[in-house]
Amino acid sequence: MIDKTARIFVSGHRGMVGSALVRRLHAGGYANLLTRTHAELDLTDQRAVHACLDQEKPDYLFIAAAKVGGIQANNQYRAEFLYQNLMIEANLIHRAHLAGVQRLMFLASSCIYPRDAAQPITEDSLLTGPLEPTNEPYAIAKIAGIKLAESYNRQYGRQYVSVMPTNLYGPNDNYDLASSHVLPALMRKAHEAKQRGDAEMVVWGSGTPRREFLYVDDLADACVHLMQQGYDGPLVNIGCGQDVTIRELAEMVMDVVGCNAKIAFDASQPDGTPRKLLDVSRLAKLGWRASTPLREGIARAYAAAPFHS
Ligand code: GDP
Repeated sequence: MIDKTARIFVSGHRGMVGSALVRRLHAGGYANLLTRTHAELDLTDQRAVHACLDQEKPDYLFIAAAKVGGIQANNQYRAEFLYQNLMIEANLIHRAHLAGVQRLMFLASSCIYPRDAAQPITEDSLLTGPLEPTNEPYAIAKIAGIKLAESYNRQYGRQYVSVMPTNLYGPNDNYDLASSHVLPALMRKAHEAKQRGDAEMVVWGSGTPRREFLYVDDLADACVHLMQQGYDGPLVNIGCGQDVTIRELAEMVMDVVGCNAKIAFDASQPDGTPRKLLDVSRLAKLGWRASTPLREGIARAYAAAPFHS
């Protein structure tokens, strides 16, 4: 169990994942949370990160900070996705070890698995085949972070865990159409199509890829559950165990929003990985399962979306 007075550092607390972790930790009665805004601490700045961790000496560290984005942003800003994520994780994990942080959770992503991994994807499929080209730089950075954490465990007996969340959505998501993931993009597109009374709504790709979606508050609950349990396996998938096609997702979003437009598929945009469904049996054995149904989560996220007032 985590002591209620433990010093818990949540990096990236303004982002979708970090803010959900802060909500969950506050709700659990953890009062001693440490945070830094981007303006207060640039996580790619090695000296600044070292000074901060040496000074704060947290008992627990959640690495939710990352440069993230959807298929187009990952594909376009390949250098930044690789460089910034490598810097953030190298600075935090290495210095956490030197500052004596015993327990750390590194948030990676399901896109670290091979493009053609057997479905549902087990943790053992890491590094067994080539990656999806559209997000390879991001995946390489995250794989390096997983291996860095694992190496401190093996060499120095640390308990650093990496978790692989599936596609996430919820409050504080990115709704910018050029850089967002599919679910927030579809929510915004459906909302605007409804407002304008458009006959058509554009959905990228073929609509056939399958994706799994998890409400971000469920993810935060799973992360805190694993930290509380003292789970120290090198990695664990976090998902809900069910996926939908992009077409089904678009139809569900349009239904929640009340948009009656027709779907127009834009084949000039990439499909990315054909299917990405996580095997969540390791997580189930550890006593956790997702509780927010997709439709309900979409309705909650839509109600909280900044464009929806
Ligand atoms: P991925 O899971 O890494 O491929 O990233 P995304 O969440 O960005 O995209 C998932 C799938 O949704 C891909 O097949 C996209 O082509 C498709 N998609 C359909 N419409 C959109 C859209 O408006 N925005 C985004 N980002 N993806 C879309």
